[in-house]
Amino acid sequence: MRRAPPLIAGGGPAGAAAAIALARAGVRATVLERGDGTGDAICGGFLSWATLDRLGHLGIDAPALGGHAVSRLALFLGGREHVLTLPGTALGLSRRRLDAALLARAETQGAEVRRGVAIRSAEGRALTLVSGERLSCETLFLATGKHDLRGLARPKDAASPDPELGLRCRLPPSSQSARLIADRIELHLFDRGYLGLVLQEDGSANACLAIRKSRLAEAGGDPATLMTQLADAAPALADRLAGFDAGTRFDAIGHVPYGWRARSSGPGIFRLGDQAAVIPSLAGEGIGIALASADLAIRHWLSQGPEGAAAYQRQFARAARRPLAMAGLLKALAGRPALAALPAALIASVPGAAALMARLTRI
Ligand SMILES: Cc1cc2nc3c(=O)[nH]c(=O)nc-3n(C[C@H](O)[C@H](O)[C@H](O)COP(=O)(O)OP(=O)(O)OC[C@H]3O[C@@H](n4cnc5c(N)ncnc54)[C@H](O)[C@@H]3O)c2cc1C
Repeated sequence: MRRAPPLIAGGGPAGAAAAIALARAGVRATVLERGDGTGDAICGGFLSWATLDRLGHLGIDAPALGGHAVSRLALFLGGREHVLTLPGTALGLSRRRLDAALLARAETQGAEVRRGVAIRSAEGRALTLVSGERLSCETLFLATGKHDLRGLARPKDAASPDPELGLRCRLPPSSQSARLIADRIELHLFDRGYLGLVLQEDGSANACLAIRKSRLAEAGGDPATLMTQLADAAPALADRLAGFDAGTRFDAIGHVPYGWRARSSGPGIFRLGDQAAVIPSLAGEGIGIALASADLAIRHWLSQGPEGAAAYQRQFARAARRPLAMAGLLKALAGRPALAALPAALIASVPGAAALMARLTRI
């Protein structure tokens, strides 16, 4: 049966992957992406071995985009460093480069990508753009990621007195951080948050933080002051942040609903990526979830059309349950380094334990 081409709201990994899968099936979808390709998403920039496989299936050879091979995880807590070998080779790659490659792939496969087009709000499947233009469709793939669209927003966790925030900045290339971070993804755990470091394609380090609002407030609400405080408290981190400039620009996102899963959606609306399930970021699996959700959603759409939305959303919520629960447990421990020290030491010393943890947090 011939179906009306869908609209895809958001051109991050989820939206671009959906556009590629549709184009391969001969369906020319339109992607509406508000960015112009120059920004970097708030993300750790860690692509797991499983995510690299999924990208390969979409025709993206991520290592060929540059990137920095990552084979170990270094956990820093309570003045100690635990080094774990990852079950596969991962990659540190800037989101700017990854997202651009995915959208370019969608275009060469035949999708229409409209960049610099921001959606203001949605009423079901009717969208109003910031320009005032109105668009409606039979099927909407909602892939606005961390950002909620007015009219289709995820429920705010009003009960949380201390919401979680994401922060990101780029640390310029330095021989010291290149030598220290090397082939590792580093997680520096501290009270109510963590800072992740990984080297990227140009030798710079991506620094991202997932943190409780109260902890940032203790630094006067200023990310640069927070970085200085964290470095003062941890010599290993101070070594890596030696060249940190207090004027560094941070990107920030508030109220990240870690652990949330969409169990239902409106008629003809398929929620993808962070709009489908938000895995705690220290698992490094958010991009994997984005790609997996797009793959499953398109398969449902191709066989059932817009009516497939409800079954897709239920099936994806089931698939995401275990990785989210596992990552939630690790996050709860990580946020209290005093409690995390023993499990971290155990995982680091028991052969196969790290690989098992890594596998249990994959979709
Ligand atoms: C601090 C932090 C660190 C993380 N680290 C990692 C990591 O290392 N590895 C990993 O795999 N995952 C990580 N994640 C998770 C990962 O970033 C997300 O899960 C992933 O980006 C989700 O992809 P997406 O396509 O759903 O959304 P996004 O990547 O957020 O993309 C959404 C797109 O929609 C566009 N958009 C939004 N609103 C509109 C609008 N109104 N109109 C038009 N376009 C719009 C945006 O510009 C964007 O391009 C991290 C998350 C956080 C918060």
